[in-house]
This record gives sequence, C-alpha cells and structure tokens, in this order.
Amino acid sequence: MLIEYHRPQTLEETLTLITRPAPLTLPLGGGTVLNTPHPEEFAVADLQALPLKSIELRGSTLEIGATATLQALLDFPDLSPALAKALYHEATANLRRAGTVAGTLIASDGRSPLAATLLALDTQLTLQPGDETHDLGNILQLRQTIEQTSKPANQQTNFFTLPHRLLTLLTFSTKPALAYEYVARTPADRPIVTVAAAKWPSGRLRVVVGGWGHTPRLALDAPEPGGVEYAVRNITAEAGDEWGSAEYRQDVAVTLTHRALQTINV
Ligand SMILES: Cc1cc2nc3c(=O)[nH]c(=O)nc-3n(C[C@H](O)[C@H](O)[C@H](O)COP(=O)(O)OP(=O)(O)OC[C@H]3O[C@@H](n4cnc5c(N)ncnc54)[C@H](O)[C@@H]3O)c2cc1C
Repeated sequence: MLIEYHRPQTLEETLTLITRPAPLTLPLGGGTVLNTPHPEEFAVADLQALPLKSIELRGSTLEIGATATLQALLDFPDLSPALAKALYHEATANLRRAGTVAGTLIASDGRSPLAATLLALDTQLTLQPGDETHDLGNILQLRQTIEQTSKPANQQTNFFTLPHRLLTLLTFSTKPALAYEYVARTPADRPIVTVAAAKWPSGRLRVVVGGWGHTPRLALDAPEPGGVEYAVRNITAEAGDEWGSAEYRQDVAVTLTHRALQTINV
C-alpha cells in the first residue's frame, strides 16, 4: 500500500528519501508497477522532476538516463534494429510511453526482452548514493521482491525492487552487432525462450538466454564462439516451468542461438 508520495526536485532530496530507514521509500519511474495495489506499506519518491531523461550518444557509448521512457529509447535515431525489436516486444505502446528504462529493468523477470538484450550488450549501470558503476547482471541478482496481490491468488507474482539505491544512468557500447530472437505463444506474447547475442569488433561474443525464472542468463562471454552450443544447453538444463520443459527450452535455445549468430555473422 502506498502510504506517502514525494516529488523531490533534486538528486540530494531523492537520496535522502530513499536511504531513510523507514518507511521503505522506493523510486517511482513510470509507476506502472508501483501504482498497483500491494499489501506491504511503502512510500515513493517520484523521479519525474529530476534531469534523468536524456539519451545521448557520446562517441560510441549510448548514455540513457534512468527515467527515459521505453518509447523515447525506441525513437532514438539509428537504434540497433535488434534493440528496437526487443523494445517493441517488451511492452505495448501505452506502457512504452509510461514505463521508464530503469523501472522496466528493475521490475523485469527472465522473460524480459529488454533485460536480455541489454545484458548481451554488457550494459553498465550508475547507482547512487556513491556514483558506483555495476554490471546489469550483478544488479539484477541484488534485487528484492515485494508481494503483488492485485491479481487473483493463482496468478499472483512478486515484483522486484532495489531498496535504498537509485539507478541514474545506463551505458553500453554501440560497437557490437546485436541479434535478438525469441519464441512465444503468439508474436506479441512474452517469450518462452529468448536469445540475445552481441559480437564486438574484437571478436568478443556474449550470448544471453532467457524466457524463465527471475532474470535472463549469460550463457557465454568469450573472445570467440567455440563451445557456444554446449554453454546454451548447460544454462537451460534446469529451465523447466509451467510454460515449457527444460528439454524443449534447450532445443529451442540452440536453434535460436544459431539463428542469432548467423544474423551477426558469427
Ligand atoms: C496493464 C499492465 C500490463 C503489464 N504487463 C507486463 C508484462 O506483460 N510483462 C512485464 O514484464 N511487465 C508488465 N507490466 C509492468 C510494467 O509495464 C513494466 O515493468 C514497466 O515498464 C515498469 O516501468 P516503470 O517505470 O513504470 O516502473 P515503476 O512502477 O515506476 O517501478 C518499477 C520498479 O522499479 C523501481 N525503480 C524505478 N525506477 C528506478 C530507479 N531509477 N532506480 C532504482 N529503482 C527504480 C521501482 O522502485 C520499482 O521497484 C505491466 C504493467 C501494466 C500496468
């Protein structure tokens, strides 16, 4: 239950709010997750007055402010077609206009196309307080869950949050070639299996597999593609859930990986 609403005007005010011991005060991006009813009591610090919306290309590094919306990123000129495909797949047009890049990543699960592609690109996150830089993969593991009771009991899911921390900036290199492939029940549905692959000019290859669990997983980060099929089979070995068996996901992930690698000329 939302017990307090704050709209801080500065980063300092925001950090004072989200680092106070009580009540738990969560950063509010687009609010599409936080505005739904939850049994736990928390306050929110709405980020909309902060200058964190910009998206800029500096050299070959794309810098994305935490409160940039999914649609603003999709509209950014010369965005990789694979990242654009993942953004279309992540959320409907209305949600893309409200949902922020940071909120989407912090709330994401293993079926998130955006989390899979940004993980493949080895996205770095700037977190406050402390101005620390962390790998996206590490931060996804550090999240905590809050219960969500707005759905019928048999459909309830928890949502993720990153208590007492504020994500301010995301950066990744635009040099890698990126591919994003998925299988879902329908083209617009959330993926059952997803593969994102990024190849740097140096030959470095990162392959991420998702579609189940809390986060997409890094299957391979290597200077060349040797062993990729083994790595993908290994990471999907226990990927069974109500949407698909582990054997099904293993076979589909291998096929999608070959397709993705072909796209980026590996
Ligand atoms: C009708 C509807 C349907 C949806 N369908 C789906 C779906 O099918 N699949 C799906 O995955 N999601 C779905 N969502 C969830 C949601 O749309 C996305 O996850 C959304 O993009 C979240 O972004 P937001 O900015 O609105 O997040 P918010 O609700 O503002 O925040 C989400 C989480 O991120 C944290 N957060 C936000 N900004 C920051 C920051 N800068 N630093 C640290 N933490 C931060 C918040 O504290 C909270 O824990 C749906 C939502 C709605 C309303």
